[in-house]
Amino acid sequence: GAALDIPDKKVDSVCPYCGVGCQLTYNVKDNKILYVEGRDGPANHGRLCVKGRYGFDYAHHPHRLTKPLIRREGFPKTGDFTLDPSRVLDVFREASWEEALELAGGKLAQIRDQHGKHALAGFGSAKGSNEEAYLFQKLVRTGFGSNNVDHCTRLCHASSVAALLEGIGSGAVSNPVMDVTRAEVVIVIGANPTVNHPVAATWMKNAVRAGTKLIVCDPRRSDLARHAHRYLQFKPDTDVALLNAMMHVIVTERLVDRAFIDSRTIGIEELEKNVEGYSPEAMAPVCGIDAETIRYCARLYATSKASMILWGMGVSQHVHGTDNARCLIALALMTGQIGRLGTGLHPLRGQNNVQGASDAGLIPMMLPDYQRVDNPAARARFEQAWGTALDPKPGLTVVEIMDAITRGEIRGMYIMGENPAMSDPDANHARAALAALDHLVVQDIFLTETAYLADVILPASAFPEKTGTFTNTDRLVQLGRQAIDPPGEAKQDLWIIQQIARRLGLPWNYGHVSEVFDEMRRTMPSIGGITWERLELDDAVTYPCLHEGDPGEPVVFAHDFPREGGRARFVPADIIPANERPDAEYPMVLITGRQLEHWHTGSMTRRTAVLDAIEPDPVALVHPLDMARLGVKPGEVITIASRRGQVALYARADDSSPVGAVFAPFCYYEAAINRLTNPALDPFGKIPEFKYCAVRVTPGGTV
Ligand code: SF4
Repeated sequence: GAALDIPDKKVDSVCPYCGVGCQLTYNVKDNKILYVEGRDGPANHGRLCVKGRYGFDYAHHPHRLTKPLIRREGFPKTGDFTLDPSRVLDVFREASWEEALELAGGKLAQIRDQHGKHALAGFGSAKGSNEEAYLFQKLVRTGFGSNNVDHCTRLCHASSVAALLEGIGSGAVSNPVMDVTRAEVVIVIGANPTVNHPVAATWMKNAVRAGTKLIVCDPRRSDLARHAHRYLQFKPDTDVALLNAMMHVIVTERLVDRAFIDSRTIGIEELEKNVEGYSPEAMAPVCGIDAETIRYCARLYATSKASMILWGMGVSQHVHGTDNARCLIALALMTGQIGRLGTGLHPLRGQNNVQGASDAGLIPMMLPDYQRVDNPAARARFEQAWGTALDPKPGLTVVEIMDAITRGEIRGMYIMGENPAMSDPDANHARAALAALDHLVVQDIFLTETAYLADVILPASAFPEKTGTFTNTDRLVQLGRQAIDPPGEAKQDLWIIQQIARRLGLPWNYGHVSEVFDEMRRTMPSIGGITWERLELDDAVTYPCLHEGDPGEPVVFAHDFPREGGRARFVPADIIPANERPDAEYPMVLITGRQLEHWHTGSMTRRTAVLDAIEPDPVALVHPLDMARLGVKPGEVITIASRRGQVALYARADDSSPVGAVFAPFCYYEAAINRLTNPALDPFGKIPEFKYCAVRVTPGGTV
């Protein structure tokens, strides 16, 4: 009856999914979330997408882990995984927290003591809070003793961050998404915001209605392209050709902002010389965009009063991802389109806290606040703060850690809330590596594909079950508040991390989560001015926020860049082809990505009734002409194979990808598409090439 649906509690929090960071309210009755409403947050003003509005009931799913689990003696780690919950107790036995923690932490300590500090590694999570990320990296750095700590930022924007740090000295966005409403021209390249940042996409559409000229550049025609002033469907893998051609126009037609270049940058001569050879006429056949359109878009971007660039993983997930981002940075710098309202560079961050987890130091070469581990002065500051010596050697990244396991160098891992068995490229290899570990501790809310390979599983808390801060794509630090209690014996993640820490010899005793945040403030100048009290009062504060009372800076770089001499640097880029091109044996291209209804590896959204009902089965999007050529009808099963593996899924006709390219989301465990992807890395960001590998598609197969 209706009376049952009246909440007994309303709790203000934020959305657990994407980096837009929409504020919401949980409506709770008897420790159950009944429904979710949007709140008037800075990023969403009441709006929510389908994930934020309906994607909450995973927290109540019967698959939730409610007791610590220990792998049964000798049960093989085959990597062959099924979600069937009735099998769980065949593979694992239930244990007390004391026994599970003793085994989990004790064996990690034993490996460290026997094989040395570089024999361990940890993956934290971009879905956890800032405080969890901070404590996790502190545990690896001071408890394991190395910098072998990373998370899925490596798989999304590592190349963008590498280019941004090199070029302008800061890896975060220069302007918030909402600035699209203040821009005259907006370029969205290699991003599908309608699917991946849906509420941000609504602001882009609103801007277009109010007169902003939107230029969408993408090999796949996104829904947003329908709203664009110009849509440039360039050939996959030719970003540098297109962007260098635009810069060629800006240089030769003298549309550069000379005053900005002279006072704020270095290295323009080299850049100008490099783009000489990239005339639009020469690049048109390479990238598939006619010279006149390239000229038109370059002029529009350069001459508007305020132009902004936003990008996603279509730019970053290539072996030339850093080069792609270097070109975008150079475009903004040479035209002075940065440092003002409605301008700047915005890499759209994926997970709800990937910005914050990176800021907190969950990356192998950086301490919190992007202080390099190999910088003696930075290290000394943290050695003093943490009271222990730190390893000066940068740690290994996600894919490098998998390779180090295969070589026998890494023997134990602690994984909190990540699912590399699904999300890593060449997932068969990643699964074999995880299975080869002497000791794997997984802390999660479900028996993920990664947890299936664990020796000890520690049942953790879901997003609405804990309080902490989360930093969105706009550098907005927001408070998520606990709305419900964890089920059964599941525990708060902060408690679990501290229990493991104690068993590694770290006598930590943080009480309330705000004590961890206070330590972060003391060690991270960028958030030094944000107090817990202010967060409780305002719910959101933008950093940099250097001192108490500082309003925070949504738009940065107005006067200088955080680099030597305050100047940004141009870095030229040349065309580097994808690592694996189509050939006679594997004639098509595979592009991987996400769907609107599902999130990352699907562990949450596929256990959400509404979202799973909309997209229940693994699909691949295939061009109708390719389907005709293959003799496949919509809804029939196809098998996609690469040099690394094969999966079967349902074909869906979709003409948004070019002929010869097939798109598949990576969220379906029964058709884990990352079994196929290429682990080749960008040399600077160490990001794998998820957006391009060679495949063969054949009719038939078994899903
Ligand atoms: Fe959540 Fe992102 Fe959707 Fe907002 S746009 S409701 S943050 S998934």
